[in-house]
Amino acid sequence: MAQLTPRPLPYTSLPGLSARLLTEHYKLYLGYVNKTNEIWSLLRTVNRQTANATYSPYRELKLEETYALNGVKLHELYFGNLGGTDGPPSGEVSFFLQRDFGSTEAWARDFRALGLSARGWGILALDLDDRTLHNFLLDAHNVGGIQRTAPLLVLDVYEHAYFIDYGTNRSGYLDAFFANIDWEEVNRRLRPYLARSAPVPTLNTDFFA
Ligand code: FE
Repeated sequence: MAQLTPRPLPYTSLPGLSARLLTEHYKLYLGYVNKTNEIWSLLRTVNRQTANATYSPYRELKLEETYALNGVKLHELYFGNLGGTDGPPSGEVSFFLQRDFGSTEAWARDFRALGLSARGWGILALDLDDRTLHNFLLDAHNVGGIQRTAPLLVLDVYEHAYFIDYGTNRSGYLDAFFANIDWEEVNRRLRPYLARSAPVPTLNTDFFA
């Protein structure tokens, strides 16, 4: 199986998110990369004859693969959608936020409530089946994911994402998160689904009419 190579942190500090906080957070991401690679190495030779749903080495590796690999992917999405200075939602995604939530402000209110409610992650995602945007909650990397959805904006609300700077003031951290969203990156993630040749149904072809 392939091995993962960590992506560099694309900035050193952000307004409201200190260099120490981001550096410590990035170290946790590196840990998920290393553990995913370790799990994949062990999976090459683990005993498949003893596979069992109560306990088996194979089962434990496959279970922790869901935690470690989602930990990698979610952190890459999270770090990747910070660093913007665009302010409120802009570009194509703002059209669909208005369509699917009523207004960008209504979306932001819901996403803030999501951020205060989740134990792990909040995600703005495109559901490939109903072709609309949703805010989804994950209580851990591998708890709460919805299949056939494309993540557009990822928010980490584990305490490690803000405690160094904000203590228990999660709301203050959410203010900083909103202020640093890179909406251009969010639009980059959305655009493949807007193309007429996209492998999944387009959100709304009238958008380009
Ligand atoms: Fe994290």
